[in-house]
Amino acid sequence: MEKKFQLDKKILITLMIVLGILILILGIYFFFVPRFRVQSFSSKVEVSYNEEFNYQSGKVCYGTFFHCEEVEIKEEGTVDTSKLGSYQVTYVFEHQSKTFSKEQEVLVVDNEKPVISIEGEEPLTYCANGIGYGYKVTATDNYDGDLTDKVVSKVENEKIHFEVVDSSGNKSVLEKNGILKDEEKPVITLNGESSVFVPLNGVYEEKNASAYDNCDGDLTVNITLEGTVDTTKAGDYMLTYKVLDSNNNEASVVRHVYVYQSSDYPSLEGKNIYLTFDDGPGAYTSKLLDVLKKYNVKATFFVTDQNLTKGYDDVLKRAYDEGHTIGLHTSSHNYGYIYSSVDAYFNDLYAIQDKVKRITGFAPMILRFPGGSSNTISKSADGGTHIMSQLTKAVQAKGFRYFDWNVDSKDASGAKNAAQVASNVINSLGNKNTYVVLQHDIKEYSVDAVETIIQFGLSHGYTFQALKMDSPRVEHTVNN
Ligand code: ZN
Repeated sequence: MEKKFQLDKKILITLMIVLGILILILGIYFFFVPRFRVQSFSSKVEVSYNEEFNYQSGKVCYGTFFHCEEVEIKEEGTVDTSKLGSYQVTYVFEHQSKTFSKEQEVLVVDNEKPVISIEGEEPLTYCANGIGYGYKVTATDNYDGDLTDKVVSKVENEKIHFEVVDSSGNKSVLEKNGILKDEEKPVITLNGESSVFVPLNGVYEEKNASAYDNCDGDLTVNITLEGTVDTTKAGDYMLTYKVLDSNNNEASVVRHVYVYQSSDYPSLEGKNIYLTFDDGPGAYTSKLLDVLKKYNVKATFFVTDQNLTKGYDDVLKRAYDEGHTIGLHTSSHNYGYIYSSVDAYFNDLYAIQDKVKRITGFAPMILRFPGGSSNTISKSADGGTHIMSQLTKAVQAKGFRYFDWNVDSKDASGAKNAAQVASNVINSLGNKNTYVVLQHDIKEYSVDAVETIIQFGLSHGYTFQALKMDSPRVEHTVNN
């Protein structure tokens, strides 16, 4: 027992001696062996985006604890601060042909916040749904550039908070005083026209409308439609489109649907308009036929075969095929010839009748005298024979029916544009049974007035008719 203790004591003493020697060696090494000493060196440093990077400086020396000399430092590796990322830099220390190196990681980071700016007076306005309006927000960042699209705003306690985060996670917030204000009505836009014309027993196609609100955005699905259209009964049907926004601002828009009796259902009851076009067909007759077709309106064409109407045989055929009445207006329209004698007149009349028959297969018996039956121009050609008195009787004796007019569009005597032609016609309409309108389809502005005249007529209870042999007689007083 005691012997064993003595043995353990020996071991302990030996260990202590060995330890003492080790400490002594370490001490000698620390105090007497020369080495590199670097003070305050970081193995990882950060530098801001686009700022200058300065290599680590600090005191580095070589020597023993008692004597140390400054050493030369060389840096290896570059840092590009215009690009975010991690860069490796190596510091090499040299002295007395001894070298030593240390690695350093340099992080180029973006730590600058974006800048939010608001253009607008406080308090800023916002909608009931929390969406602000009436001001302009922009956000820019030193690294990401324009961040306006990334700005998030919310309303809390009558304040609007704006927040934006850049791609490096730097967050900016801004708070402005706000006020709830939504007095603007939604805007309803009709699809299709606000006046729609549908022939009796025709088809009305509801095209609906769209609605947009400054606060609520698209409100189309919330539109309600009041009113119905009965296409089996002529009349003016009013459709009302209404919508409310989230602040109960109401908007409404009206569409009129005019269901009218078209020329396909001729009735001499009520108010009838007979559109008549002299001196064609010509360059604008096709355009006119398109308009008439659009409204299913039938008209009457008193045609000639003057130089300016040549080359429009196909247009004449089209007018006939589409159900318009083709009437005769003499072939030459030459007052000096046609009113020189009864024979001359009929020669000319039969020439145009033959031509129409050749083109359409039908020989018209309806006519209009150039200048009308009341014209006095004929006096200078007839040698005092009172030609109009003779012709008005002669044409009827041969079974023809002539028509004058009781509404002058003045498209050949004063009116200079479509608006004037249309108002001359519209202002002449009243509550009479029969209105025969004089126009000329060789004048473009007169043709351009037709749609306005038709829309006015259809929306005011008139029926458009084409002249027939048994249409009510509209004849002037014969003055020669
Ligand atoms: Zn004429």
